[in-house]
Amino acid sequence: MDTAGWKGVTYLRVDEDNDDAYGCLCPLCNRWFRGSEYLETVFKEPRPLLLANLITHYRHEHLHYDRNYGFVVHYKGYATRDEYRSDINERAKRQYARKCTEWLKANGFTVEDIQKLKGTTPKTVAVWNKKLILETTYKLKSKKVKA
Ligand SMILES: [Zn+2]
Repeated sequence: MDTAGWKGVTYLRVDEDNDDAYGCLCPLCNRWFRGSEYLETVFKEPRPLLLANLITHYRHEHLHYDRNYGFVVHYKGYATRDEYRSDINERAKRQYARKCTEWLKANGFTVEDIQKLKGTTPKTVAVWNKKLILETTYKLKSKKVKA
C-alpha cells in the first residue's frame, strides 16, 4: 500500500495499520500524528483539513492544553474554557503562519485556507496576509532594488 501522499499531498498519509485512519505532518515539530475522523467529515480539501488538525495538535502537543487548562484559565483571567480555547486556537493559527511561512508557501497554502476554519479572526487573517503575501511581495521588491 502506498502510504505517502494521501489526497495528493505529502503532508497527509493513510495510516499504515488502519485504512480508515490518516496521518498528518506537523511542520513545526516535523512529527506525524493521527488525524481526526470528525475533521475529515468537515473538511474535504487537504489544506484546510491539515490546518484544522494542526490546531488540535498544537493545543495538545505544543501547549499541553489539558494539563495546564485549570492553571492558565485562572492565571490569565479567561472567563470560560471556550474563551480560552478560541484564543489558543487563534494563537496556533498565527504561530504556524509565523514559524512555518516557507513550508506553507511551498505547499500551496493560502489565506483562503485559514479563513475556512471556524472562528478565524481578522487579527489572524492579517498575520497570514502579512506572512504569506505582503512579506513575499516586499522581499521580491527588495531584491529588485539591490539588483
Ligand atoms: Zn507539532
